[in-house]
Amino acid sequence: MLERIKFPELFFGLVAPIGVDLSETVQPLKALLEGFDYEVHIIKVTDLFRDIDYCDVSLHDKPSEARFKSYIDFGNRLREISGDKAICASLVIDKIAKSRDVDPLKRQRSEKRAYIIHQFKRKEEIDLLRSVYGKLFFQISVYSSKGERTDAFSQRIARDHKSTDLDKYRATADQLIKLDEDQEEDQNGQRVRDVFHLADFIINIDIPATQFDQLERFIKLIFGATNLSPTPIEYGMYMAKGASLRSLDLSRQVGAAIFSKRHEIITLGCNEVPKGGGGTYWSQNGSEDARDFKWGSDPNDEKKRSLILDLFERLSSHGMMDKECVEKIDDMLQHPAVKDSQLMDIIEFGRILHAEMSALMDAARLGRAVQDATLFCTTFPCHICAKHIVGSGIDTVYFLEPYPKSAAFALHPDSIEVEGSSRVHYLNYKKTKFTHFYGISPRRYRDFFEKSLRKNKATGRAQEWLGPKNEPRPILDVKVLIYLPLEKYVEEALQRNKSRAVAALDIAKTVEGALREEEGGQASDVEIEKPTQDAV
Ligand SMILES: [Zn+2]
Repeated sequence: MLERIKFPELFFGLVAPIGVDLSETVQPLKALLEGFDYEVHIIKVTDLFRDIDYCDVSLHDKPSEARFKSYIDFGNRLREISGDKAICASLVIDKIAKSRDVDPLKRQRSEKRAYIIHQFKRKEEIDLLRSVYGKLFFQISVYSSKGERTDAFSQRIARDHKSTDLDKYRATADQLIKLDEDQEEDQNGQRVRDVFHLADFIINIDIPATQFDQLERFIKLIFGATNLSPTPIEYGMYMAKGASLRSLDLSRQVGAAIFSKRHEIITLGCNEVPKGGGGTYWSQNGSEDARDFKWGSDPNDEKKRSLILDLFERLSSHGMMDKECVEKIDDMLQHPAVKDSQLMDIIEFGRILHAEMSALMDAARLGRAVQDATLFCTTFPCHICAKHIVGSGIDTVYFLEPYPKSAAFALHPDSIEVEGSSRVHYLNYKKTKFTHFYGISPRRYRDFFEKSLRKNKATGRAQEWLGPKNEPRPILDVKVLIYLPLEKYVEEALQRNKSRAVAALDIAKTVEGALREEEGGQASDVEIEKPTQDAV
């Protein structure tokens, strides 16, 4: 029989928005793991950039804004020329594999070793790490509100310029924060917003007094502490996530859970089509079902087309638009610029009841008060739900996934506070607080909180740790290290992508040289031919 590896290697990947000082998470995390006799290796992704000699972007160290900008540009360029959007993770895996032995045939498994890797900026990077290391990989997202981050980052930049004038550097900090969140115009750019919420654990560093405790609890849960159970926030979000999985919506699954102040559940909701008599449709043999899936489409999409067509026809019939434009409407709607327009974000004509509204409607139908209650929602509420949430008297909303298209705060700054946002004009108005979730995420909830026997069978006494000998050891049941051969595949793919990058840069240089000759020494912007083959 295969034996369980007692102290398997552990991999921690950190995700944080720009402006967060990660040393305050990395150092305590290292100390905690060392407390469990683990040997800790810290890998900084940007340090690996320094060993790369095939990228044509220069790295700068000072001042901070130049440093951050040059590293962002370097990473983007690397993804572009290599054709590998997960290349930062590939570099890390290559480093870990080679630290065992440069020769893959001599690599042995090691125990009691942990890697803290910071930091990642794209979902593809985390996907690759998860596919190689499986459940031994943990994504830790480090949360700090935008206001706190902007202040801290402005301070850092001002310090580099030996200035105390924070306002002077706030715009620069803001600009870099925006770049880091989502570089929409660059398909190889950073996308922290798309990966942050996919964490196994989110630490909230805006509560400094509890920062160490949050980390300690997380590590103790990994090592099988028996005396830890979910917080009300973790419990609430897990319930919301569970509810979301009932939805058959064609776009996304969203869940909501309303809890009383004493953490008793009031109602659950998911985004689904309402049915006559109250509630929403369910999957049940023989029952009525007229969900969007049955209809075959979401009427909101059709309605958007007809709105634009109606406007174009009116403009055309009154001589304000060429008739040709009206005829080309379907081509135009497929254009990325039009697809990304604000008009295409409208949600008013969908048939589904949003998760938050569904939970509120159930509460109304069942006569359960929601005054001062807490609402957990897997995605940040849209503006329509937001006004219903405010009107219902909900006190606090916890959300996990962002929804940048939401106009909730823009329309209701008088009654909503988002992540401690400034409410200058409405300081004394009552408000509903919209707060980011933190703690063990629904993704890992069962792994951490589903426990076996917590007492010694013979004595009946409570045990401190889950292990058979009442000793701390990772709860992950690993018997074969399938990641050793997987690491080798990643290394090979990295070599291929490096060759591609070198070739792409050679082509770019040749084209640039030829253009320069032709234009009498004037350098031009050259578009590099994109590699076509998919990366690892
Ligand atoms: Zn909504």
